[in-house]
Amino acid sequence: MTDTAAHSMIPLCDPDACVTAGCSPTVCVGAGVPSNHTMFERSKAAIPGGVNSSIRAFRSVGGEPYVVARAEGATITDVEGTTYFDLVQSYGAVILGHAHPAITAAVTAAVVDGTSYGAPTPREMKLAEEISSRVPSCERVRLMNSGTEATSTAIRLARGVTGRDRIVTFAGNFHGATDALLVAGGSGIATLGLPGTAGVPDSSVAETMVAPYNVVPELTEEIAAVIVEPVAANMGVVAPVPGFLEGLRAECDRVGALLIFDEVITGFRLAPGGAQEKYDIVPDITCFGKVIGGGLPIGSVGGRADIMENLSPLGKVFHAGTLSGNPLATAAGLAALDQLTGDVYIELLARARHMAALLRDACASAGFAARFPVVGTLIGMVCGEDAADPVRNFDDAKTTDEAAYARFFQAMLAEGVAMAPGAYEAIFVGLAHTDDVIDQIAHAAARAAKVAAA
Ligand SMILES: *Cc1c(COP(=O)(O)O)cnc(C)c1O
Repeated sequence: MTDTAAHSMIPLCDPDACVTAGCSPTVCVGAGVPSNHTMFERSKAAIPGGVNSSIRAFRSVGGEPYVVARAEGATITDVEGTTYFDLVQSYGAVILGHAHPAITAAVTAAVVDGTSYGAPTPREMKLAEEISSRVPSCERVRLMNSGTEATSTAIRLARGVTGRDRIVTFAGNFHGATDALLVAGGSGIATLGLPGTAGVPDSSVAETMVAPYNVVPELTEEIAAVIVEPVAANMGVVAPVPGFLEGLRAECDRVGALLIFDEVITGFRLAPGGAQEKYDIVPDITCFGKVIGGGLPIGSVGGRADIMENLSPLGKVFHAGTLSGNPLATAAGLAALDQLTGDVYIELLARARHMAALLRDACASAGFAARFPVVGTLIGMVCGEDAADPVRNFDDAKTTDEAAYARFFQAMLAEGVAMAPGAYEAIFVGLAHTDDVIDQIAHAAARAAKVAAA
């Protein structure tokens, strides 16, 4: 990737002092020669661990992160000027590829009109309409700023509507940094949760039960809601077994509990209407995030009108947000959804299958034991001879060989492909991953698998 002329015209950057392609006005810290290491060291003195989201620190794969200067399409470029094919894509927030012209144009056009008002806007109305039109279960949609905010709001709403406190979640599902959902996953039968992290008091999870994924738990009339990732995409990529989602729907109906689908990853990625369309299940409440912000911060809660109208100001369940329905995030989100026509999903499905097949072949030829389960447009990776096959729940997922993943990850990075720095993340294929890009990634994988197998 070459630097554009525009970069060297910015006076902040001294082209003589900076390393060539890494010089960018967006990252110029006046340091002269940026390197990932010096930048990350400096970051660590300002930011705990040098990161604003834990996984980015590379703790589970070792080494230090590349510090991103900019990104375009299927690639990211670090401050040293090294360009990688990117399979992270902001953990799924980016589906069109980085710096997609439609998103850039929409955000650029919006920004001159102001970045936040604290009053209703046409774009937030349009984005809510757009979500409702693709996901019929979302008769009303409230926009907010992150997936975490969406799941915490959905839980509060479900508790407020039902007048019950207890919620059920599934081991290995991830719903963001919401206290009530940060529970340690038990194994076996449904158990009352224990805090999954320091700082979450027992009282915050005292009403949270953790059940194994892919088994329909028997509910009681104490349960306000069941929250589930309809395709689990934070313990590798795990499909719901036939009958699981149907069973949850029926069991919730039997006891009057609400069914919450956390579609923060699957929404607008698996199908135009998300996992609920693919599996033909109608949840009561749905959480979205990631894709609907086109790479800007966003989250949403949607659901049946009679449920959603319990949110303030209509109802007694409080919700508010200074930046909610943000003009830039809604502009980017609308631009993203505008590109995501039905054909796009057919294309993405084909690409995910193709990429997984090539990665599978690359690893098999090198004698590196790895499987790449595909669920719709999502790809997972399970490493090691002894890993459970298939993976159906968190206990199975944990049989992946994390050390082998770390070796593959490092070898891929050395070959110019950036995967997520953790063995339980998905591989995100987007519209920027053309056949040519996929071929190049597969060639890199063939070389990386040999190194990782040795
Ligand atoms: C990413 C994610 C979240 C949290 O979203 P943030 O925007 O990071 O707060 C919640 N649920 C699922 C399934 C996710 O993948």
